[in-house]
Amino acid sequence: MEKKFWDYLEKWRGLFPRRRTLRWRDGWIQNGYCCDCRYCCGPQDSNEPYPMALLPRQIHAGIEKDFYMLNADTAYMDGRGCKSCSPTGCGLPRENRPVACGLFPFALINGSLYAYKTCPAILFTPLAQLAPLGREAARWLTGFSHDELRHLSLNVEPAVLAEKYISLGIEVFDDNGVNLQLR
Ligand code: SF4
Ligand code: SF4
Repeated sequence: MEKKFWDYLEKWRGLFPRRRTLRWRDGWIQNGYCCDCRYCCGPQDSNEPYPMALLPRQIHAGIEKDFYMLNADTAYMDGRGCKSCSPTGCGLPRENRPVACGLFPFALINGSLYAYKTCPAILFTPLAQLAPLGREAARWLTGFSHDELRHLSLNVEPAVLAEKYISLGIEVFDDNGVNLQLR
């Protein structure tokens, strides 16, 4: 059965009695919780595919060995986890990992930046510290073209967005182009 917010809160409270550090570095969140959490890349508690868009330079022959593929330019994970997840972490070089992997627990959704609510880093880091990190990630994202960002951005229904994510009030692009705005 799919775990909900309160299940995770209890689990992470036991596992992380003290706050850990989060930093944004060169297109990647350095997240002190990941090494003891490891939730993201392994088997998910839902079989709903989580899409991870790939950039043209990341697509190569035999890519199905690295990822379950939703279509030619988008990988995904589900209840089986990610194909590249190994007991010691991600088996891929950084440049081959989807942009979403470096951003998570932030996610670009419907053109704006959100925080994934049940990640321990999101639960235990004060919003006033998360928001500037999100702003750094959003600035980095503006280095992509409008078309690339539209590809990288998830489309999520409002009800799911409200249940699983926290808005950071940061828009990265809209219909007219790349346009970073704090709201
Ligand atoms: S849920 Fe958060 S802390 Fe856990 S592995 Fe994913 S990003 Fe890291
Ligand atoms: S590519 Fe690597 S970092 Fe990304 S989901 Fe797969 S195992 Fe995790």
